[in-house]
Amino acid sequence: MHSPPEPDDHGDHLPVDCDACQTALRSPNRQTVSFLLVDQYTVPVVGCEDHLEQFATICGLTTPDTAQLLSHLPAGGIQCPSCRLARHSSQQVLIPVGDGAAGILACEDHMTTMATRFKTGLETKRKLLTDIERFQ
Ligand SMILES: [Zn+2]
Ligand SMILES: [Zn+2]
Repeated sequence: MHSPPEPDDHGDHLPVDCDACQTALRSPNRQTVSFLLVDQYTVPVVGCEDHLEQFATICGLTTPDTAQLLSHLPAGGIQCPSCRLARHSSQQVLIPVGDGAAGILACEDHMTTMATRFKTGLETKRKLLTDIERFQ
C-alpha cells in the first residue's frame, strides 16, 4: 500500500508547484475564494480554478449528488457559524490536489469532513480505474 505523502508544514514557501494555486493561497480574496457545495455543506475553498475543479470532482465521487463549485457565496450563505468565522481568519488547511492544492477555509469539523471526503473520493477513483482496467 502506498499512501499520499503528508502535507508539509507550510511556512513562507507553500508546498505547491502550481503557480496559480500559490498566488491564490497567499492572498485569499473575493476573486480567489470559491464555495464548494457538497450535500448540506457549503465550504469556502481557495486555489486556482483548475485544481479547485479537480478537488470538487473528487469530493463529488463521495455523494450521489454532484459537488458544485460556485464563484460567489450561495443565497443560503454558510450555515455553520464557525465556518463563517474561519473564512475571515488565516486558518487554512492545504489539501494537495495533483501538483496544486486546495486551501480549506472552514472550521475544524468541516475541514476534517472535506479532507475525509477528498481521501474517500480518491480511493473511489482509484477503484473505478482498476475496474476499468480489469474489464478491458
Ligand atoms: Zn493550481
Ligand atoms: Zn463549520
